[in-house]
Amino acid sequence: MLLMGKINKIGVLTSGGDAPGMNAAIRSVVRTCAYYNVECIGVMQGFQGLIEGQYETLNARSVSNIINRGGTILKSARSLEFKTKEGRKKAYDNFKEYGLDSLVVIGGDGSFTGAMLFQKEFGVPVIGIPGTIDNDIYGSDLTLGYDTAMNTVMEAIDKIRDTASSHNRLFFIEVMGRDAGFIALNTGIAGGAEEILIPEENLGLERLIESLKTSSRSGKSSSIVIVAEGEKSGKNVFELAEFVEDHFEEYEVKVSVLGHIQRGGSPTVVDRVLASRLGVAAVEGLLDGKSNVMVGVICGKVKMTPLQKAIKENNEINRELLRVADIMSV
Ligand code: ATP
Repeated sequence: MLLMGKINKIGVLTSGGDAPGMNAAIRSVVRTCAYYNVECIGVMQGFQGLIEGQYETLNARSVSNIINRGGTILKSARSLEFKTKEGRKKAYDNFKEYGLDSLVVIGGDGSFTGAMLFQKEFGVPVIGIPGTIDNDIYGSDLTLGYDTAMNTVMEAIDKIRDTASSHNRLFFIEVMGRDAGFIALNTGIAGGAEEILIPEENLGLERLIESLKTSSRSGKSSSIVIVAEGEKSGKNVFELAEFVEDHFEEYEVKVSVLGHIQRGGSPTVVDRVLASRLGVAAVEGLLDGKSNVMVGVICGKVKMTPLQKAIKENNEINRELLRVADIMSV
């Protein structure tokens, strides 16, 4: 039952690292507001815009032609000021002056922490939408941008494989994921990587060398190792490459750091549909009196998870995928 009347003016912002699909989520929030005849205000530059009163009224037509665009039309920013109570008070004063009564925050766990504090201190209803390519947020099987980022990485691996196999090269490809290996594990399997190094599991350098030696003995003339930024060997990707090069005369070892291309690009079908569903769920949730929750998709169904839980808990890596990766690299 939707409690129409209590919520009349919803703010929406994007915060933290940008991710493909954020625009599709903004579009969905705006259009759902239009559908229910609720005003929607876009807050520019994340929480910093909230503090500075950078607001723009958005209607269904303001979000035309953005579902296919990466990045975020509202811009994203990291705001140190919002981490202070004074900063948040300033944000609230502007928020009230503008007649806003609730907020949808699209971002990662830092953004959700900010949203939670804003709710706690000023009683503003808030709902979060998980937007980060890392897929490291509890309460959703997928986060916005993750699927697109994986497809970008997979394309890059395919291209690197062409050159690797033409020259007997061993490639170390670093992908994003400071705390989570979801991108690395899935793209490693999809791209046929020899080894996949992720933060959740440190198999040790000996085992890496052993595995690459076995591959070399079995006739492989080139190999690809996918390295998540935050893997735990204690060496960065260049040091890892150097270390391995010392053990293999037959290989030329190269490093490719994919970096920010993983954040860009047109969102995939999966991300666009996810964004559309979560935008609808967030607005309907607010209209229904829900607050302090994140909307996500679990086993195909839209679910709400308390923000506190979404922040505190972690998505576990799927161990079956580790086993599959292992078997595939025989
Ligand atoms: P990503 O996963 O891409 O890093 P994130 O949302 O975790 O996304 P952060 O940079 O951690 O990104 O947080 C984004 C913004 O949220 C910060 O710049 C700050 O404005 C706000 N924020 C983060 N942590 C807090 C906090 N403890 N208190 C208040 N606000 C916070």
